[in-house]
Amino acid sequence: MDMFDLEEDRLVAEIMERGARRILIQLPDGLKTEGPRLSKLVRAKTGAEVFVSAAPAWGACDLSLDAAARLKADLLVHYGHNEFLRNGSNGIPVVYIPARSKHKVMPVVEKAVPLLQGKRIGLATTVQHLHELTTMAVFLEEKGFRVEVPGRGPWAHETGQILGCDYFGLRRVQSAVDSFLIVGSFFHGLGAALSVERPAVLADPYDGTARSLEEDRAKVIRQRFAMIEKARKAANFGIIVSTKPGQCNPQIALSILSQLEERGKTGVLLYADEVVPEKLMDFAGLDAFVDTACPRLALDDPERFPKPILTRDEIMVAVGAWTWEELLERGLVRL
Ligand code: SF4
Repeated sequence: MDMFDLEEDRLVAEIMERGARRILIQLPDGLKTEGPRLSKLVRAKTGAEVFVSAAPAWGACDLSLDAAARLKADLLVHYGHNEFLRNGSNGIPVVYIPARSKHKVMPVVEKAVPLLQGKRIGLATTVQHLHELTTMAVFLEEKGFRVEVPGRGPWAHETGQILGCDYFGLRRVQSAVDSFLIVGSFFHGLGAALSVERPAVLADPYDGTARSLEEDRAKVIRQRFAMIEKARKAANFGIIVSTKPGQCNPQIALSILSQLEERGKTGVLLYADEVVPEKLMDFAGLDAFVDTACPRLALDDPERFPKPILTRDEIMVAVGAWTWEELLERGLVRL
């Protein structure tokens, strides 16, 4: 996987410096193929015992801290993301290796230029391309744009960084920009487009394309409106709480349950590791679901779920606490 920098030397140095003897390595699905090679390398260079997690690793919200504790590992190595939780560790140290991308960004940024609206551009990207941020900003400024780089959000801890559930930085600068340029995958671009009230353009270094996200945004907004309308008719709700350390929101779930009960509805709190539609369908008596875990579960693939599934904010519209317009003003994506 030579298109990503897996920082093998730093990995070995971290293990040696900490004197770690048993390691759990977590890789996102796209990098799992590197697990056997990393295991072999670490064992040969450090003598440590290495376990490679075969479980999904959706984000740094999804740290396998419990698994590391069960394995009695003295170090968790998490690939593909940077730090998400500032605390919440169970005492097991975590080394984050973001897997910086070697895909070229400038050709797609150049392709995106004719699609940008106005001269004031908000520029953001994922941790994989942050090391290219200054180069991209300088290029755009040389083309006559004024570039605003958003500050950090609650979960995206670097300047100019976005996460699939954290676009707060973009929202803070949106009054000062005419449009946004997002460099990364469609997943991240769409999240940005659903979070701001300015046009967004995606420059995707993985498939080499640049595109406006306006149609995608409009399509998802239509879907969400229809989903909320369906959920208004539901009487019995399942409110999903995640086991994942960075997505676990029991207080929010309890507050949603109270709001439903105040309005004569019923609800049950469901605790789940992976939110799989087939598993939710085992709860045949429930009419709709509220997702307090990763907001992208509900937003990105609603057709996977045979019953309505709303985010923690959308349920506020369904119960009449917020208007649809208020929801759009706040942005659709929030963890
Ligand atoms: S909550 Fe969802 S979008 Fe946010 S980091 Fe985790 S997997 Fe990504």
